[in-house]
Amino acid sequence: MDLRYSESENEFRKELREWLAEVLPALPAKPGPHAWDERRAYDTGWQRMLFDAGYAGINWPTAYGGRGASLTEQLIYLEETTRAGAPYVGVNFVGLLHAGPTIMTEASEEQKAAHLPRILRGEEVWCQGFSEPGAGSDLASLSCRAVRDGDEYVVTGQKIWTSFAQVADYCELLVRTDPSSKHKGITWLICPMGLPGMEVRPLRTIVGSSEFSEVFFDDVRVPVTQRVGDENDGWRIAMVTFSFERGTSFISDLVETDRTIGELVKLARRVTRRSATAWDDVALRREVGHLQAEMDALWAMTKRNLAQADRNGVPGVGGSVMKLYYSELLQRLTDVAMRVLGRAGLSREDVGGLESGAFVEERLRSTSFTIAAGSSQIQRNIIAERILGLPKDR
Ligand SMILES: Cc1cc2nc3c(=O)[nH]c(=O)nc-3n(C[C@H](O)[C@H](O)[C@H](O)COP(=O)(O)OP(=O)(O)OC[C@H]3O[C@@H](n4cnc5c(N)ncnc54)[C@H](O)[C@@H]3O)c2cc1C
Repeated sequence: MDLRYSESENEFRKELREWLAEVLPALPAKPGPHAWDERRAYDTGWQRMLFDAGYAGINWPTAYGGRGASLTEQLIYLEETTRAGAPYVGVNFVGLLHAGPTIMTEASEEQKAAHLPRILRGEEVWCQGFSEPGAGSDLASLSCRAVRDGDEYVVTGQKIWTSFAQVADYCELLVRTDPSSKHKGITWLICPMGLPGMEVRPLRTIVGSSEFSEVFFDDVRVPVTQRVGDENDGWRIAMVTFSFERGTSFISDLVETDRTIGELVKLARRVTRRSATAWDDVALRREVGHLQAEMDALWAMTKRNLAQADRNGVPGVGGSVMKLYYSELLQRLTDVAMRVLGRAGLSREDVGGLESGAFVEERLRSTSFTIAAGSSQIQRNIIAERILGLPKDR
């Protein structure tokens, strides 16, 4: 493994940096958190710009409109776009990061042709209908039922925590097609949103927005042609989806966290206590230095993980190590920020001329990172069983 960038990778970085410097100043203002139609338009508009410039789906095969670039180039792309403050995948993270790659790996040629180019062009937004009130970590116990009726499945049940369901066109939906079997009774469907009998009810989160929803199905008819893979083979396909979700899709968060450490240092230099600044405290400097060193180590490990994934196309379980470590590190980092802010950390508004509100929001938001895409306990189980070879969780 070579951790250095090649000449062509450096050239890719230079071109991207120039393009970002040209287009970013002309972008419209980012819409507010509750303006859902505007958020969709903003995110899909940026996706279209990426597509036109040849940066959409940089690691997707060119046959589907992607750039066919290596995972290392994807890493460079994420580094550069995040550091330049460019928008990320936004409301279509499921389409671009989970459903798209799963369709590429598992779906029929017709399904690939119908969805992949449209996802890349920003014409199609997806959500993920996996979790249910009684099936989160133990996802295989899901009970949203699909009964075959001629050329259709009749779906009845409920999904929960469905991110961006209110703006999605399609849902990657896991349904129970055989109640007599747990893992072997699940099917992966492409479910168009807004079908008769479907209802989306947004839920309000701790940061005040409604990022996710409950989705109810009451005799919703989904054509059998919308099935990906065989009936009752959906668990295996969901594992492919998870390998992408836990493998590489959090990398931009990692770059963002690196930037947050820099912002924390700037903040600590401005917070004053008696005659000194918070940054004059040697214990704080040591703590922040340690966090930065951990980030650097995590970054090197991410590159190693990507180099491995580059060889077989699908990220391995190493992604669980990254996801676990990074999500807990972000919480420790934002805890330090709260200590630096003191009482200003009690307000979501900026206080005393400091940009404190963003840190408070990040602290609240980071709570969800150790739950989403498999909780920390589940990641520890995966690491124990599949990497360390310890006995299975019962
Ligand atoms: C920000 C965010 C976005 C999300 N977006 C989506 C989405 O778009 N689509 C979707 O389908 N889902 C989504 N989810 C749901 C997410 O996948 C679940 O919250 C997650 O899988 C945990 O399930 P749960 O909430 O039911 O908790 P539970 O599974 O009930 O877990 C409760 C607690 O028990 C622990 N626990 C459970 N099983 C074990 C075990 N075997 N060993 C040790 N500890 C265990 C867990 O770690 C946790 O602490 C999202 C969640 C968040 C936070």
